[in-house]
Amino acid sequence: QIVLENIHKTFISKRNEPLHVLEQVELTIREGEFVSLLGPSGCGKSTILNIIAGLESPSSGQIHVNGRSISGPGNDRIVVFQEAGLFPWMNVLDNVMYGLRLKKMKRKEAREKAIAWLKKVHLGKYLDAYPYELSGGMKQRVAIARALVMEPEILLMDEPFAALDEQTRMVLHQELESLWRETGKTIIFVTHNIREALMLSDRIVLMKTRPGGIKKQYDVQAARPRNPSDSVLVHLEQ
Ligand code: ATP
Ligand code: MG
Repeated sequence: QIVLENIHKTFISKRNEPLHVLEQVELTIREGEFVSLLGPSGCGKSTILNIIAGLESPSSGQIHVNGRSISGPGNDRIVVFQEAGLFPWMNVLDNVMYGLRLKKMKRKEAREKAIAWLKKVHLGKYLDAYPYELSGGMKQRVAIARALVMEPEILLMDEPFAALDEQTRMVLHQELESLWRETGKTIIFVTHNIREALMLSDRIVLMKTRPGGIKKQYDVQAARPRNPSDSVLVHLEQ
């Protein structure tokens, strides 16, 4: 369970003016819940993820993860998906294995797990390739494999599928959904794509423009059909 209590975040701009990014954010996310954060650009979605991950601290307010107060980074139960940041000097396989090796997993096991995930993102033929040899979408898929291979308790995903082609995105939707069903992980998912949010999540949290806060929350689980047809989606989007 993740609880954000009355979170405020103010950045100080270069001109020394305060920029109120988050105000009075109250959000409780149950264990195993799949929550999407939706809202206009600049409303503070990434800031919320960074705060939950401990990469950024709130100006005021409290965060509890499974009853424990969070402050500062270094919580390896939480993994943030970030598009950037593949190591350019490592090939694809080593990039994906890196976190597992850091956790002292045996080389053979780490290799097998990494290969399994790289196959799921259709990069089984690119194990030896280096990031500079890949397209943007391929790098993004490597980054997805690198996050998912860690099997974190809580997965924070910041627009993970934004730049992918429709086909890959659909495959990854299915992979993510079955991972979520099989493992009961808590997933917080930022997207600009309403369809994606409706299809994947239990709940959609809609944010206001700056200063960001929570405008509305929609429970979508009950409304979500197994195979959402366009007509149902259109109905939900209204
Ligand atoms: P997008 O949908 O475009 O990714 P977002 O909702 O993720 O937007 P954030 O990245 O959380 O938005 O940023 C919210 C606001 O906070 C923006 O106005 C941004 O300029 C500002 N901001 C974010 N990080 C910092 C920082 N480290 N220093 C100063 N301002 C920041
Ligand atoms: Mg963002």
